[in-house]
Order: sequence, then C-alpha cells, then structure tokens
Amino acid sequence: MEWCFSMPKLELHAHLNGSIRNSTLLELATALDEKDFSEVEHVILKYDDRSLKEVFKLFDLIHILTTDHDTVTRITKEVVEDFASENVVYLELRTTPKRNDSIGMSKRSYIEAVLKGLRSVNSVDVDFAPHSEDSKTFLNPLPSTTEDKCNRDSRKKIFVRLLLSIDRRETTEAAMETVKLALEMRQYGVVGIDLSGNPSIGEWITYLPALKFAREQGLHVTLHCGEVRNPKEIHNMLDFHPERIGHAIFFEEEHWRKLKSSNIPVEICLTSNIRTLSVPSVDAHHFVDWYNAKHPLVLCTDDSGVFSTSLSNEYKIVAMSFGLGRKEMFELSRNAVEFIFADNGVKEDLRTYFNSVAKNME
Ligand code: 5GP
Repeated sequence: MEWCFSMPKLELHAHLNGSIRNSTLLELATALDEKDFSEVEHVILKYDDRSLKEVFKLFDLIHILTTDHDTVTRITKEVVEDFASENVVYLELRTTPKRNDSIGMSKRSYIEAVLKGLRSVNSVDVDFAPHSEDSKTFLNPLPSTTEDKCNRDSRKKIFVRLLLSIDRRETTEAAMETVKLALEMRQYGVVGIDLSGNPSIGEWITYLPALKFAREQGLHVTLHCGEVRNPKEIHNMLDFHPERIGHAIFFEEEHWRKLKSSNIPVEICLTSNIRTLSVPSVDAHHFVDWYNAKHPLVLCTDDSGVFSTSLSNEYKIVAMSFGLGRKEMFELSRNAVEFIFADNGVKEDLRTYFNSVAKNME
C-alpha cells in the first residue's frame, strides 16, 4: 500500500507537542538526571496502551522538556518536515501558546518561536502566510503531475496554517488572551482556534465567551468534542456550531442526528482513539458508519509522536480495515480540501492540484 504514502494528503488535526519525534524527546530527556530519564524513557516507549488520563500526564512531561524558545522552534521545523516527507500538502498545525515567566516566554514569544520554526524548514518549501489580494497564491505552485515534478523543481511544497489552542485548564481571561493573540497573528498564518486539553477538566461555559469572540472576529473554530461521556457538553458544543469538531466518540443518537443535519466535518483520529482506549478496536470505530452515511470526515493523526503513527499509516489502517481502495481513499483526502481553514486562494490551488493528480491516476 505504498499509495497511502505517495498520495497527497491534508492533515487538519495535529498538535505540535504531540507530534514531536520520539528521538527528539529522548534526546531532550538526556538533560534530566538518571532517575528522571529512565522514567521518561519508560513513558515514551510505552505508547501502545495509554489511557487518556495517562496521555495528559505525558503531555505535562513533554512540556517540561520542550517549553523553551529554541526547542519550540526545533520541533516545529521537524514536525513540518516529517509531514511533508509523507506527502502532506496542507498542514493545519495546532498548539497551545504557553507562558513561562522564568525564561521570559510570553504566549506571543511562544508563537514567534513556532513561526521561526516554519521559516527555518529547508527540506521543503513552506507557504505559511496568507497571500495578499494581488499576489499569486503559492510562490512555487504544487507540482501538478509526476512529469511536471521531474521536469521542474522536484522539491516538495507544503502549505502550513496555524490554530491556537485553548487548554481546558485555562480561565476565560486566558482563553480570551489566546484569541486576541490569534487575531494579532493572522498575517502570519494563524487561521483559527481550537479547544483541547483534558476533557475531564473544565466547563464549556468558561471558554464560550472567547470562542464567540473568535468567531465574531472571523477566526475559524474547531472543538475537541465527545472524548468522554458528557452528553450535555456535546449538545452545547453542537449548538455552538463550530466549523469542525475532533474525535466525536461518545455520541448518542440525538447528537448524531444533530451533527448529521448540521453537516459539521469531523476530524477522525483513529489510532489515538484506540491507543487511549476510548474505542475498543478499529472495527468498533464510528468512522465506518459515518463514512457510509457520507458524513464529511477527514483522517488525522492527532499526536503522531505520542501515538507512534503517521498520516499514511492512518490511511492504510482505514483502507485495510474497511476495504477501501485507492480511489476511495483519494476522494477522502480530496474532500478534506473543502474543510480547511485557509483562504479560498489556497483551496483553489489544492483543488487544482488534486484534479491534476486524479487525471494522472486514470
Ligand atoms: P501543544 O498544544 O502543547 O502543542 O500540544 C499538546 C497539547 O494538545 C496537550 O497538552 C493537550 O492540551 C492537547 N492535546 C493533544 N492531544 C489531545 C487529545 O487527544 N485530546 C485533547 N482533548 N487534547 C489533546
């Protein structure tokens, strides 16, 4: 199934710190003393069955190791290169802006470090800022066919846009600060807001003012929804009508009906749901029913480092588990173009690119 790798793909649900390479994480952990290192090593290597609760403990550990400007820059660069190397042509990368007064880090300087990482990628061409009205979309358009690719520049290209995440541990004020930062950073490719963090913590009402403000100001919004059994919150989230939701696991009939009628696209994170024991097996995953019902879906990795997966792997699992062929998987990937948060120019470029690849497949 090499085609799962070579097929152009869009990644719309990837957390920066969850996508860190294991090798980088281990390298960073060597700065710890021997006892702490072996603890970190144990957690890092035990990726196949972590409960959701353990995953959030792991994130706290990762953040201790990664929250400084240079490391944030480094992991951003590596994450973009990793996605591009498996033919992801559009990446929406999300991260929680962090403040750490002891090292002079503000939420803004954290995001500046991410932007520095985007600028420092050199193995691929990165388009990360929105284009002005009069400029052509991609500096170096995506190669339209294999032939083109060989004849012209064979460097890979990737569009990257950023979502700023609100952590469920945050207050309304902190969430609002993140939204204001996102507005200030729009010219650098920040296109939206995500609500994430431990789903067993916090109340929907805490984040609502910031999410409403984000929407009023024209930012796109996606929510982690239904990761734990919380019917009331799922109901409230669907009533808010976000432009996308992630996971959507513990949905009851009423939620499903609401979702279906509102046609909100769902970011499917299959391996993540299984590894966190939120779904017992691939066969039991809601993907297949919703796919058969023709609901808008996009396959995503969530945390490729933490769950030791890749987007190509997610495509392979779905193709193999549900008997979908190359053409169906290609359409699944192509449909995701319609759910991206970047502007219409980027959408149009991606549509053209997918059309040319489709022609070549005939
Ligand atoms: P960061 O925002 O630090 O770049 O990425 C890690 C953070 O993303 C975690 O601390 C957590 O807040 C959020 N995150 C990563 N994976 C998940 C997930 O599966 N569910 C939820 N709700 N949040 C997640």
